[in-house]
Amino acid sequence: MVEKLKRAIRDVPDFPKKGIVFKDITTLCRDPHCFQTMVDFLGHRYVGRKIDLVIGIEARGFVVGSALAYKIGAGVVLVRKPGKLPWKTRSASYTLEYGEDSLEIHEDAIERGQKVLIADDLLATGGTARAVVDLVEKLGGEVVECAFVIELKDIGGRDRLYPHNVFSLIQF
Ligand code: AMP
Repeated sequence: MVEKLKRAIRDVPDFPKKGIVFKDITTLCRDPHCFQTMVDFLGHRYVGRKIDLVIGIEARGFVVGSALAYKIGAGVVLVRKPGKLPWKTRSASYTLEYGEDSLEIHEDAIERGQKVLIADDLLATGGTARAVVDLVEKLGGEVVECAFVIELKDIGGRDRLYPHNVFSLIQF
């Protein structure tokens, strides 16, 4: 089944810049069976683990994170690019495989001690997820795991997130 999901991901060479092979999950998400399987597989891992909140990282992480939160009966929190969230925020900077940016979270999005799962479409360098881990911890949340649909294994993002738990459904 994972092989079917793997085949449903489209490679886009040289996007968003030369030398990057962009792993496009929109082709997986538009297939009803693949989308459902992806959410069910991830959900199966977290059902019953008393997770309070799933954090979705803008933008594809919103799709993965909100479906997963619904599946496991958790709330969903959005981590967004700067200037998009309407309330008071905390922010963290990070480096991408192809650039630099920062992310924001509402300062009251997580209560101290809440168990949090971080979700995104893809793990590359781990810089993005690391920034989100920092945001969660600044607010007093406990990171249970970082969950990704895709992991680019050779880039070593998993090491950057150490000692936090990392799970990925599909590896390239
Ligand atoms: P990183 O911070 O390097 O782990 O990059 C992960 C973030 O950047 C995720 O939010 C991905 O959506 C995006 N990303 C980085 N590299 C790729 C890639 N090769 N294909 C698709 N998305 C990517």
